[in-house]
Amino acid sequence: VKRNPNETEFHQAVKEILDSLVPVVARHPKYRELGILERLVEPERLITFRVPWVDDQGIVRVNRGFRVQYNSSIGPYKGGLRFHPSVNASIIKFLGFEQTFKNSLTGQAIGGGKGGSDFDPKGKSDGETMRFTQSFMTELYKYIGPDTDVPAGDIGVGAREIGFMFGQYKRIRGGYEAGVLTGKGIGYGGSLGRTEATGYGCVYFVNEMLNSRGLSFDGSTVVVSGSGNVAIYAIQKANQLGAKVVACSDSNGYIYDPDGIRLDTVQRLKEVERKRISEYVKEHPDAVYTEGCHNIWSIPCDIALPCATQNEIDQESAKKLVAGGVQAVGEGANMPSTLEAIDVFLKANVLFGPAKAANAGGVAVSALEMSQNSMRYSWNFHEVDDKLHQIMKNIYREAVQAAAEYGHPGNLVVGANIAGFKKVADAMIAHGVI
Ligand code: NDP
Repeated sequence: VKRNPNETEFHQAVKEILDSLVPVVARHPKYRELGILERLVEPERLITFRVPWVDDQGIVRVNRGFRVQYNSSIGPYKGGLRFHPSVNASIIKFLGFEQTFKNSLTGQAIGGGKGGSDFDPKGKSDGETMRFTQSFMTELYKYIGPDTDVPAGDIGVGAREIGFMFGQYKRIRGGYEAGVLTGKGIGYGGSLGRTEATGYGCVYFVNEMLNSRGLSFDGSTVVVSGSGNVAIYAIQKANQLGAKVVACSDSNGYIYDPDGIRLDTVQRLKEVERKRISEYVKEHPDAVYTEGCHNIWSIPCDIALPCATQNEIDQESAKKLVAGGVQAVGEGANMPSTLEAIDVFLKANVLFGPAKAANAGGVAVSALEMSQNSMRYSWNFHEVDDKLHQIMKNIYREAVQAAAEYGHPGNLVVGANIAGFKKVADAMIAHGVI
């Protein structure tokens, strides 16, 4: 805390992991003796840079760009770029730290990284977004490459932004290094199934948890927060498995539709027209719009899928979910539950799928995109989706096994942290003190 003052999100992520690792370090003193924990809480590198650009009025704007190259012990740095006004070093470091363990859990050879900018994409024209992303890449290109560091999308960075960044990278570097970014369009090296991967993967993971208690999505009532990439495809897959999703949100408020949210309307409003979720009720008058997001968790449901942002479920919201009968929570977003909220869920015996396991499907398919780029070959949608499904089942199994092996049966927070940690820690030991 002294070395990283004011980095509250980073402290929160580190505390969650370190608490889980107590039984591992007790059983394997080598991790303490070789300074693994001290090394893990220090990123290999944090790069910050100026991003100047010119808006549509001809005014010069300046944002700050970040890339954390957190840990490369099991593969090239891999992790998304976030464009949101809240982005700062603490947010990027917490995300890079989490990403390191998540990527390890996928079973693929990818290290941990993350990046982004405090640029706010809301209300920007295509031209402004393009000029900003080109300026951002003009600095970032120095640090990335298909075998070094492979960024992808995250909040505020979708297919349009990845396209602009890929174009600028190609222009600066020459040649066609398709594997330098993932989340690309299908026509120029993207993978089928990548758009759906995080949302689908989260639902696959929760389905495994439900099955362990003889439950399923079929006939259940689900609340999803957010209405971005992760939320939309979590809703789609939950619907396909027979659930009724009754609510979703954006950063202004949430909609509740007791008949089940019409996903086609949400997709058109958010993906095509880039409008606010409040517009939904104009087309579906039986639905209700509420300003502010906090109360979405007071809607009674069987399954909650937080898919918007960090710390969106606090202790009070967790208590409301439990009072409303929630049986399973799957974190589609990164760190959406506070430490106190997780405690409420675990004490109430709610099935809880932590982010680094439940939302690992996105980066897993990003790694599949890298493989396809290297092979210059494309798998069809079903091949990618089958691989994703298998990966999510494996992550679930490994988390369950690690939790039981270290004395916390059924606690997937502990299980995912331990399973993700051991592979990274053992690789670090093999590489010596670096
Ligand atoms: P998008 O930008 O596509 O969507 C984000 C959604 O969350 C939007 O509905 C947005 O509302 C809402 N939101 C953002 N910030 C806030 C906030 N401060 N308060 C309330 N709502 C907010 O992002 P993604 O769907 O890609 O990402 C969502 C989460 O999932 C993030 O935590 C991300 O790190 C995580 N994640 C994403 C992966 C991916 O593959 N995309 C992979 C793994 C994790 P609005 O439109 O108003 O901004």
